[in-house]
Order: sequence, then structure tokens, then C-alpha cells
Amino acid sequence: MEKDNRSSDFLHIGSKILEWYKNNARDLPFRQTKDPYKIWICEIVFQQTRINQGLNHYNNFIKRFPDVKTLAEAEENEVLLYWKGLGYYSRAINIHKAAQQIMNDYHGIFPDQYEEILKLKGVGKYTAAAVSSICFGGRMPAVDGNFYRVLSRLFADDFDISNSKAFTYFSELAALVMPENVGDFNQAMMDIGSEICKPKNPLCGECPINEDCLAFSIQKISDYPVKTKKVKAEDLALTYYFVHRNGQFLIRQRKEDFIWKKLFEFPDAISSNMETFITGSKTIAHKLTHKNLSIEIFNVEVISEKIWNDFIAENQYLITDVEGSHEKSFPKPLENYIQNSLKD
Ligand code: SF4
Repeated sequence: MEKDNRSSDFLHIGSKILEWYKNNARDLPFRQTKDPYKIWICEIVFQQTRINQGLNHYNNFIKRFPDVKTLAEAEENEVLLYWKGLGYYSRAINIHKAAQQIMNDYHGIFPDQYEEILKLKGVGKYTAAAVSSICFGGRMPAVDGNFYRVLSRLFADDFDISNSKAFTYFSELAALVMPENVGDFNQAMMDIGSEICKPKNPLCGECPINEDCLAFSIQKISDYPVKTKKVKAEDLALTYYFVHRNGQFLIRQRKEDFIWKKLFEFPDAISSNMETFITGSKTIAHKLTHKNLSIEIFNVEVISEKIWNDFIAENQYLITDVEGSHEKSFPKPLENYIQNSLKD
């Protein structure tokens, strides 16, 4: 559908969305506040995590780091620890840096302008729009996958959401229906996108805008949104050695910018005199965004105390045990391996 051919009067759709939101907004802890710090943390936490999966993490995080200052002054490893279980740990590293940015560049006061919020480490246009509209009355639509889906179905619009101009295009489309209260509108669209206009089997009968929805009226919902480009996932093989002795095992913190930055991992090599201690191996498949990992973990039970001590001294590994490992953040497959290793 060509945008220019549409009537400019779509504002009643925004009103219906707001009306629906008044009665149906999800009762979430971060909905009771306009504190930009909390809204920002919640937007980052729930970017790649479902609400019911991330809610406890969010509550624990806010309890430990109730404000920008506390977060900025914390050790990075502790921030990572409180992120444990949420995955995509670069988000935790970025919010920690952004908190320090707010302390240094904004005297500890959360910036209230969209352009300034956008300067914070790890904050994209979506998050900046959400925080500025919910907390400061900003007038930017918080366009994400939910917006793409709802708007492309609403207008039966075949603009390709994998196109690099999709954000701008759907922001303009959102502006056609956007009411005065953009903060509530953005939150309503988040709720409609995740609870009603779901990717599969949308609940059109319960949708507040079903009378206006073109895809619904022509029964072509599954044709929208249009996405042509599929990013091919890269295959990647990793090898680790679970080197242990008397209930203790060896770890180190990753430095690489590649994947799992700053998380802890097992050694990725052993010395030749340790090969006789290998008792078996296990291969684990794990998917990351755009990567299919195949992780082979060798179990190395070191019988010799001298070889154990020499290996640690030469490679500066940390010694831990299962209890100690709870205080550190590991990539999910290694975390699972540690838990299972104890059951054997
Ligand atoms: S009517 Fe159905 S397809 Fe259209 S916006 Fe509502 S839920 Fe989505």
C-alpha cells in the first residue's frame, strides 16, 4: 500500500489503542514508575527476554542497584552476576558503562532529551524513544518488531522489515496513528504486539483495532510483515577442557570482543602431559544470534598434583568449585555443563 494514497485521518486508531490500554495494560512493576533509570533498565532487560522469564531478574537487579549511582559504583563482575540467566551479557556491560557516563557527563541526572539519551552506551533509537516518551513526554514512537508487525498488518503494508530504511518508514507510519500521549501509546503497542497481534495466531477477535485492520479484513494476516532477507547463521566450533581435581576446576575470564566478552570459561587447551587424564568428551549444540555453536568439552580429571599445580602456574587459571562458580557468570552451555558435572 502506498503511504501517499492514504487518508491522513488515522488518529482514531491511536485513540482506540489508548482506550484499550487504559483497561488492559499489563500490571508490571515498572509500569508504576516514571523513574527513567528503572524504565531504561526494564527496556534493556526485556529487549531480548520475555517478561515472565525476566521479571525476577529485573526485580533483583533493581533491588541491588536501585539508582544510577549505585550501579555506576559497582564492580563490573557483580553487574554481570546480577545479569546471570538473561544472556546477551554485552547489555550488562553497556548499562554499567552508561551509568558511569550519566555520573560523569550528566552529574548523575538521567538526561531528559531523546538525543542525549541516545548518546548513552548501548542505547538505540527504540530505547531512547521509549524512555523519553514514557518519562519525559517525548514524541518519538518506540518502533521495534511489535510496531513493524502491528502496523504492517494494520495497513496491509508490504514494506520489507529487513530493509535498512524500515525503522524510518515505520516511524512515519506510526506517526499517522500516534495520539497525544505517546508514552502510553508506545506501551500499548508493546502490549498489543506481544499479547494480541502475535507473530503466529494473532487474537484478532480481541484486538482493539480489528475494525481498522486491512490485513484482517482481507484475510491476509499471514502475509504481513514482509521480510525477505534472512541472515544466514554461521557455524562455529569451540573446544574446551573441563580440568578438575578433588572437586575443584579451572576457569578464566574471557577478554575477547568476539562472543561472551567478560564471562568465565574453561581452558581451551591443555599441556601434552595432561592428555592421559582425558576421560571422555561431550558435544553441545548452542545457538546464538547469527551463530550455530558446536562446543566440544573434554573431561580432564588430573590425578597428578604436580601437573595440576604446574598447569595453573603456567596459565594463570583461577581455581573454583561448584559453589564458587555460582558467584561468577558463565555462558549458558558451560553453566549447564558445570551443574551436570556434579550429578555424575
Ligand atoms: S486485527 Fe489481528 S492482525 Fe490486525 S492488528 Fe489486530 S491482531 Fe493484528
